[in-house]
Amino acid sequence: MPVRLRPRAPIPYVMRGKEMTFVVTEQCIRCKYTDCVEVCPVDCFYEGPNILVINPDECIDCALCEPECPVNAIYSEDDLPEKYQPYLALNKELAEKWPNINRIKDAPADADQWANVPDKLKLLEK
Ligand code: SF4
Ligand code: SF4
Repeated sequence: MPVRLRPRAPIPYVMRGKEMTFVVTEQCIRCKYTDCVEVCPVDCFYEGPNILVINPDECIDCALCEPECPVNAIYSEDDLPEKYQPYLALNKELAEKWPNINRIKDAPADADQWANVPDKLKLLEK
């Protein structure tokens, strides 16, 4: 008689191990609109002088922040374009030294002027 297997239940996040994160990239530099921090359920955004970053060790891969960013600065790690790969290590490095932010605040007065400027990595202030 064949053994009936039960349907496999979803594996809880905590049992999957920590493998994925979301990443803030250069479109955030000098924009910092902060819409993203309001939706993060685990408060894993950290604020520097002119960019926010995500702590990869705290991000639970929920994807809530990605559509909130008005300049599309946030990517899932597995969708991160080649040119933004350095931001994976930068998010981790900078999240460890910058203060946490979990409330929306006013963007810089000139944020809109910087929203579509390319190659802003050189402007990142640490
Ligand atoms: S919403 Fe986008 S631009 Fe604003 S702080 Fe978050 S990542 Fe940066
Ligand atoms: S994916 Fe979820 S947990 Fe990770 S930074 Fe975005 S909102 Fe926070």
